[in-house]
Amino acid sequence: MRGVIIAIALFLGIAVPGSFAAAAAAPAQVQALKITILSTMVADYGTRGEWGFSALVEADGRKLLVDTGLAPGTVLENAKALGIDLSDVKEVVLTHNHDDHTGGLLSLREALRAKNPRAMSRVHLASAAFASRPHSGAESNYLLQHRAEMEKLGIQFIAHDEPVELLPGLWFSGPVPRKFPERNWSGSGKLVLHGETMEDTIPEDSAIAINTAKGTVLLSGCGHAGVVNTMAYSQERVVPGRPIVALVGGFHLFQLKDERLEWTGRQMQAFGVKWLLGAHCTGFEAVYRLRQQLRLPREAALVAAIGSRYSLKDGITPDESGLTR
Ligand SMILES: [Zn+2]
Ligand SMILES: [Zn+2]
Repeated sequence: MRGVIIAIALFLGIAVPGSFAAAAAAPAQVQALKITILSTMVADYGTRGEWGFSALVEADGRKLLVDTGLAPGTVLENAKALGIDLSDVKEVVLTHNHDDHTGGLLSLREALRAKNPRAMSRVHLASAAFASRPHSGAESNYLLQHRAEMEKLGIQFIAHDEPVELLPGLWFSGPVPRKFPERNWSGSGKLVLHGETMEDTIPEDSAIAINTAKGTVLLSGCGHAGVVNTMAYSQERVVPGRPIVALVGGFHLFQLKDERLEWTGRQMQAFGVKWLLGAHCTGFEAVYRLRQQLRLPREAALVAAIGSRYSLKDGITPDESGLTR
């Protein structure tokens, strides 16, 4: 209502009292942002590569770990090699149930709680991450298999099925609706939801949208919901009306046919993408082709290695040494 009054007042050229304008203040924006890749396939000197994903987000002095890699020790080892202390990270986001994103959680909690009892203790996800995935008569959902063990270690799971602001200006999208026909899942997996068995489309797949003065920075784990669906939902519901300036993480483009990749590139262009740090399932070839299609300079569209960073201040830094800049 206030917004409507202010809009009418502005239209009529009437001055809006300061306090009234402040009450309809713009949503919070992150001023200082750094995202560091801690698990992906490409390793740098002293780090370990794997098929998995994890990234540390530092937003205005607060930290959040998005996904935890595949092997129990990868993120711990890589953080150590990069000189990053994870013991002060309380909040974790799991983008979906797959073990290449959730496999490191237990060991992270186990290793870091001695130094900080709250380390890795609050885990945000969408509720379908705990849906049963039966396979050959057994449970194949890693998270469900290990839930009791994780809770026993003091991990608290917080499910969100709608967009939620986890830190000022930093949003967890919740499940991304599938408006466009992007099909980034195997098609053979089964899921039991509300007592019904159905194709596992990984319905919980969620992303992080960070509102900045330049536009939205999207961080994705594996992109099962589709990068275009994720950009569209972010712009419609999560951080409304903002261009998507940067894509960081796994976007599941490695297996796309040429015409689908070109369509995806056209959508990226329309959403305003200026930076692409493609990790994990994004694929090398996809990153190179999108760089060409979007006419981005080489330093703005890169395949991520462990230690690669995206920051609002410096854009993409390919590796720890930064020598290539
Ligand atoms: Zn996955
Ligand atoms: Zn993955």
